[in-house]
Amino acid sequence: MDIAVIGSNMVDLITYTNTMPKAGETLEAEDFALGCGGKGANQAVAAAKLGADVMMVSKVGEDLFAENTVKNLQQYGVDTRFVSVAPGTSSGVAPIFVDDQSQNRILIIKGANAQLSPADIDAAAEDLRRCKLLVLQLEIPLPTVYYAIDFARQHGISLILNPAPAVAELDIDYACQCDFFMPNETELEILTGLPVSSEEEVLRAGQMLLGRGLKNLIITLGSRGSVWMRDDAVHRVSPTPVNAVDTSGAGDAFIGCFAHFLVQHGDVAQAMQSASAYAACSVTGRGTQRSYPDADTFHRFLN
Ligand code: ATP
Repeated sequence: MDIAVIGSNMVDLITYTNTMPKAGETLEAEDFALGCGGKGANQAVAAAKLGADVMMVSKVGEDLFAENTVKNLQQYGVDTRFVSVAPGTSSGVAPIFVDDQSQNRILIIKGANAQLSPADIDAAAEDLRRCKLLVLQLEIPLPTVYYAIDFARQHGISLILNPAPAVAELDIDYACQCDFFMPNETELEILTGLPVSSEEEVLRAGQMLLGRGLKNLIITLGSRGSVWMRDDAVHRVSPTPVNAVDTSGAGDAFIGCFAHFLVQHGDVAQAMQSASAYAACSVTGRGTQRSYPDADTFHRFLN
């Protein structure tokens, strides 16, 4: 295996409606769609679509969604041997309400994702030890995140930590032990407590993390691109200009692609360049995983 994603999966329950019901009211909505998401699963799928060997350590609930989630990951070639059922829980779900202005209202129920534990990492340890890169996010319990960081350090495996969604209780000194810390600007603001409204402020917040011992900080800045900070060096990657249709899951596309190319050739600047183009390509289509191009489509996009 090249990459192991230790993280979340969610089922997006998307209702299209222009009117939200008041308390006690029942309304009819225009349309409904079911989608596979979760930051962990999105990142695993992005890397797998590009051809990486990816395994996931994840938890599904004891419900109808579990089989669909596993099948979806398998369809993209993700190894699901360590996606296990948490008895008596629901799968992670995200009821999403979308109006005709494309405004989203999202609720997240972590469900089984809240049950992913250090024991699940132990169960997969033999396979995880053979991976070149571990990828983590924060939709699973923090003790499991810390355990995975310890595991990676103990076995000399590179580690990406995407601190999303930002959890104020995250132990920054622990997080700074990862090889690549990859927040977006909102997450950077919450985790450092510093403003990020200008590039100068973003860099100042970034310096604070480097000062705590972080090796590599990659900040995604939406349509303004991304920046890599380490020691005194700052490397900026311009966004790839596109007509954006739906930017949801762009950060996950960026990280999954970055992970794939980092494992392929180890050149961070080039991996960021590819990730930037890949995420840009993904925002030209609707949805999250289904908007991620496979290797062929991505090559065509680049040429
Ligand atoms: P999400 O939470 O929706 O997954 P995010 O906030 O974590 O997204 P962003 O920083 O918005 O992630 O975007 C990640 C990367 O995607 C950016 O660094 C950029 O390279 C690319 N990107 C995002 N939006 C655009 C856009 N409108 N045009 C071109 N590239 C974009």
